[in-house]
Amino acid sequence: MNNIAMAIHGGCGVMPEESMTASDWQAARNDLAAALRAGYGVLQSGGRALDAVEAAVVVMEDSPHFNAGHGAALNENGVHELDASIMDGATLEAGAISAALAIRNPIKAARRLIDDGRAVLLTGAAADRFAEACGLAIEPQSYFTTQKRVEALEAMKAHAEAGTDGTENEKHGTVGAVALDAAGHLAAATSTGGYTNKPDGRVGDSPIIGAGTYARDGACAVSGTGKGEFFIRHVVGHEIASRVAYLGQDLATAADGVVHRDLAAHDIGAGLVAVGSDGTVAAPYNTPGMFRGWVTGDGKAFVATHTTIYEVAM
Ligand code: ASP
Repeated sequence: MNNIAMAIHGGCGVMPEESMTASDWQAARNDLAAALRAGYGVLQSGGRALDAVEAAVVVMEDSPHFNAGHGAALNENGVHELDASIMDGATLEAGAISAALAIRNPIKAARRLIDDGRAVLLTGAAADRFAEACGLAIEPQSYFTTQKRVEALEAMKAHAEAGTDGTENEKHGTVGAVALDAAGHLAAATSTGGYTNKPDGRVGDSPIIGAGTYARDGACAVSGTGKGEFFIRHVVGHEIASRVAYLGQDLATAADGVVHRDLAAHDIGAGLVAVGSDGTVAAPYNTPGMFRGWVTGDGKAFVATHTTIYEVAM
């Protein structure tokens, strides 16, 4: 059996450690561990990387701690517009949903698009209709709203008026997962509400294959978080895979180069998780923290929000 490996993130829009109680951070870490368990469990039983990343992302979409599904950010009109995508590194098949209004788990709809096979990306009301036709759960907008996101929208509108910058947490977040399965196949999945106070109809990097999500067997799988416009312009996922495949860089060098050099040059928050075809994991970020977790070949699992790393049981 090959190595199996997995990494997840819950976004690089993390508050400074002192601004939340220890039990709030613990609750977020518990949900990260639950997401890792859901995904890693699929891999341990010989399942596909594609199923593992979907399972992990569903847990984080359902958690209020992260900006995706329940707990997603609000746009300038106080509306949740949800983006998600998933990619199979074995076949390069991909599915993506953008600006959906009602899909409880956008990542499930993205996955169904792969199975359906007629389109890679569906947007807006058509994406909602597709999900409903697939029998997926549909929710009113109020399902996605949390008090934290309402306050973040108010804060970002105040910042916009005063010409000041919001905190990373007020601004954005995303969830994502990458995995290597026992058959040696890679997959990546990402889901988000986008950035707080984003323009009506704005589509970020998360549903853009090659930018916020990318997987290619023999190279790596990548899921990003940060100001999506720059992830699109730098085609981040594909860029990292290309450096690994064509420059022969190791995964950490390729991922660090993009996050800490290319993206850092724009003075934006950015982070990602990536897994290589040898099971190596990378999780660079340039913000005060990033919700993240990983399990490597030895089966040891870890979660973290800031610099302290906690081992968790799988
Ligand atoms: N990448 C997401 C977007 O731009 C937001 C984030 O991850 O912070 O929509």
